[in-house]
Amino acid sequence: MKCVECRIGETAQGPTSLTYTRPDSKLQVVVTGIPADVCSHCGEAYLSEEIAQEVFEIVDGILELGKTLKQGTLPIPQIEIHFGSETRMAA
Ligand SMILES: [Zn+2]
Repeated sequence: MKCVECRIGETAQGPTSLTYTRPDSKLQVVVTGIPADVCSHCGEAYLSEEIAQEVFEIVDGILELGKTLKQGTLPIPQIEIHFGSETRMAA
């Protein structure tokens, strides 16, 4: 389909990466290998509602857990979730 962000590129199936943060959570979640339709021009990724919901359910629990952590001296840790067994693509 035509990308609605840039109105130039066409989307094609490919993996995308998203980073989830929440102001009150002491964890960040980086999710890679999410199946999406990605714009060939601007890189905007379109997730199906079903996939977006599934990813959110996983990420939500981790971000909730991050609420219970105390801020220490270390920077906020990132937790990475990778879908798919294929070689990781550059983000
Ligand atoms: Zn685009």
